[in-house]
Amino acid sequence: MTWSNWIIAPFTTSVFFVLGVLTLYWVSVNWLLEHLHARHVKVDDEQVNSWYGLAYMLLFVFAMQAFLVGKSNSWIFMNFQLIAVTFCGYFLNLKVKYYYLYPLDLLFMIFNRSLGSWESWVHGVVLITFFTVLGILRPRLQKYSVRARFSIYMLNSTVFGGMLWLMMKLKFDLSWLTFWQEWFYLVIFEGLLYVYASMLSDNTALKQQLVKFANEDALTDTGNYAAYTAAINYQVANSSQNGLKLTMMMFDIDHFKKINDTYGHLAGDQVLKSVTETAQLVLAANDPRVKLYRTGGEEFNVIFPGYDLDASLVIVHQVFNALNHLTVTWKDQRIQLSVSVGVANLSSDDQTATAFYNRVDHNLYQSKRNGRMQVTAQ
Ligand code: GH3
Ligand code: MG
Ligand code: MG
Repeated sequence: MTWSNWIIAPFTTSVFFVLGVLTLYWVSVNWLLEHLHARHVKVDDEQVNSWYGLAYMLLFVFAMQAFLVGKSNSWIFMNFQLIAVTFCGYFLNLKVKYYYLYPLDLLFMIFNRSLGSWESWVHGVVLITFFTVLGILRPRLQKYSVRARFSIYMLNSTVFGGMLWLMMKLKFDLSWLTFWQEWFYLVIFEGLLYVYASMLSDNTALKQQLVKFANEDALTDTGNYAAYTAAINYQVANSSQNGLKLTMMMFDIDHFKKINDTYGHLAGDQVLKSVTETAQLVLAANDPRVKLYRTGGEEFNVIFPGYDLDASLVIVHQVFNALNHLTVTWKDQRIQLSVSVGVANLSSDDQTATAFYNRVDHNLYQSKRNGRMQVTAQ
């Protein structure tokens, strides 16, 4: 028995081909996102995922068909192409209107030289309906159980797949055996796509959750020390290399221990939350690029990328005033607080991010030593 007449081979290779195409997509989109994040390019991951996925699958569909244009077996990759359509319609959160598929399908027919075939026109309409139904089903199925979701998805793919293969059977005069076989393969591939894509998206969701936990302070929803370290290392390197300005503010709540001792630890936690909320409101109203990090128990750092000392001091004083006027209510008690602040800009003497941090910290220490509730900037 030779390999070519071993009946299972084409099906098995097709399974691995489908898995390979999906894996390549997943690996490459993750690489792209990591590359963008490393360069601090602000992007919506979901949007990148959707548009990259669409471009990837379009390229895949057209590139495959390029080998077959005008040939009598130009239907042989249809199952792969239907998998690509299902992937875009169901698994990518595309905010594209379904009617954009009309010109795309028309383009495919021109490309495939099949404009003259009525079966291809019917095929096109069924395909667009299939895509539309997938898009309609996707958000509505969320409230159902996993099993119900899978069943409805499979039913939809089976019914539309059958209609699409019927059109190809008529157009290419395929045998009933081929028709049933291809339809059956499609159903298997659609099932495989569902399981594999669900596994990958669960994995991505878990990864995003872990990244969030690793970089966010749970009490105050600000960046934590790890996030601060990554950000300051990047900003110091970027500013030194490109001659950009950089300023940092550091503040510490005065006599915070006394607040804890007087009102209790939970009241102290509430003060920390109110302080971050207030500081973040002021920063966001000025410049969303300026970020706040909780770097210690009641110590915070604010990084001002592109700011010289004078420009940053305008915002620093707004934060300082807002916090010193803040009253935190805790169980009918009103808690007043004040903060001490240190500010410095990056100088050519700062060899490392730590050296820069130490100068800012030193200024904060000066504010404490000089009686607290003040700003020291040099
Ligand atoms: P100073 O004006 O010199 O900064 O005095 P301080 O009392 O603010 O400073 P000190 O470093 O002596 O005390 C900081 C306190 O912050 C001690 C610690 O129990 C408290 N603290 C640290 N993290 C948390 C937290 O997450 N919640 C609460 N409630 N307290 C915290
Ligand atoms: Mg303190
Ligand atoms: Mg402290």
